Amino acid sequence: MYPAKARKYLIIALIAGWGLTAAYLNICHNKNTHKIKPQPKLQNQELYKDTQLMMGTFVEVISPDKKASNIAFTEIKRVENLLSKYNPDSEISKLNKSGACLVSPETYYVIKKAKEFWLASDGAFDITVGPLLDLWGFTDKNYGLPEEKSIKDTLARVGSDKIILNKENNVVEFIVPGMKIDLGAIAKGFAVDCAIDKLKKASIKNCLINAGGDIYCIGDRLGKDWKVAIQNPSGNGFTDCLLLKNQAVATSGNYEQFFLKNKKRYAHIFNPKTGEPSDLGIASVTVIAQDCLTADALATSIFVLGKAKGEVLSKKFPNVKTIIIEES
Ligand code: ADP
Ligand code: MG
Repeated sequence: MYPAKARKYLIIALIAGWGLTAAYLNICHNKNTHKIKPQPKLQNQELYKDTQLMMGTFVEVISPDKKASNIAFTEIKRVENLLSKYNPDSEISKLNKSGACLVSPETYYVIKKAKEFWLASDGAFDITVGPLLDLWGFTDKNYGLPEEKSIKDTLARVGSDKIILNKENNVVEFIVPGMKIDLGAIAKGFAVDCAIDKLKKASIKNCLINAGGDIYCIGDRLGKDWKVAIQNPSGNGFTDCLLLKNQAVATSGNYEQFFLKNKKRYAHIFNPKTGEPSDLGIASVTVIAQDCLTADALATSIFVLGKAKGEVLSKKFPNVKTIIIEES
C-alpha cells in the first residue's frame, strides 16, 4: 500500500526462539522468501514461515499449519485492493479522485473507525492527511520543506470533520474538493484482523502474522507464548520482549520513513493541526491491544499527541498497554 520499506522489519523483530533472532532478521532482508521454509523441529512439530511483499511492506506468517500463510496472504491482498491509495482501482483511490464514492461495508467500517479515533484523539489521528504527505514529498519521495503559505493552503483540505459518512447508502463524501484519504496508519492493522478472522474460520489455532510491524498472534508457538521483541529506535538491539497470546501489537516510529534537512529529521507521521511532521520528542510508540486495528491506530495517535496526552488516551481503552520510547 505504501512504498516498500524493508527496514520496517527491524522495528519489531519476532523472535521465533531467542537464539533465532539473527536468522529471522536475515530472512527479513531476503526478498525471495516466498516459499514456505520449514523451521527447526521442536517437540516433533515444525513451524512454517512464509513472507510476501504486500501493503508496501513484508508480511510474514508463522504457523505449524502449512495452509495458514496462503489463507492470510489471500485475505490481506483482498483488503489491500480495497484500501490502498496506490492502487488506482481501489475504493479509496476512487473516492480520492471523485470526492464521493459508494464503498463496500468494509471500507465504510475502516473510515468510520478512523473517524472514531480522530474524535478520541482530539484530532491527532486524521486520515485526511493525504494532501500533507503529497506536499512534503512523502508520496513520491521527492521530499522538501514547503512554504508556510502552501502548508496553510493545504490545511484547508485536511480534517476528518470534512468527511461525510452516509450510513443509509454507504456513500462517503468529502466536503472540500481536493481532499485525500490515506489509511496508512490503520489499514495494515485492519488487514491483519481480517486475516486472523479467516484463519480462525479455517480452524487454525496457532499462528502469528506480522505485517511490517503490525502483529497478531493466535494461540501459541509450539506450546509457549509468542515472543515479540521491540527494536531500540536508535538501532542498537532491542528494548523489550513481549510474550503474547491472542493479542495484537503495533509500533509507530520516526526512524524509518523520514528525510533530513539542515540536520533536522522530518518523519511521515503528521500533526494534522500544524500541517508539519509531528515532533514531540517521541522515537517510537508500541501498543498492545486486543485487535490489530486498535493497536495500529492508537500507536499513530499517541505518537502525534506526545507522551503525556498519549498516555491519557491509551487509558481510555480497556486492555491496552503502551510502551513509549522518547528520543535520546
Ligand atoms: P507505519 O505505516 O510505518 O506502520 P503508522 O502506522 O504510524 O506507521 O502510519 C503512518 C502513516 O499514516 C503515514 O505514512 C501516513 O500514511 C499516515 N499518517 C500520517 N500522519 C497521520 C495522522 N496524524 N493520522 C493518521 N494517519 C497518519
Ligand atoms: Mg498506525
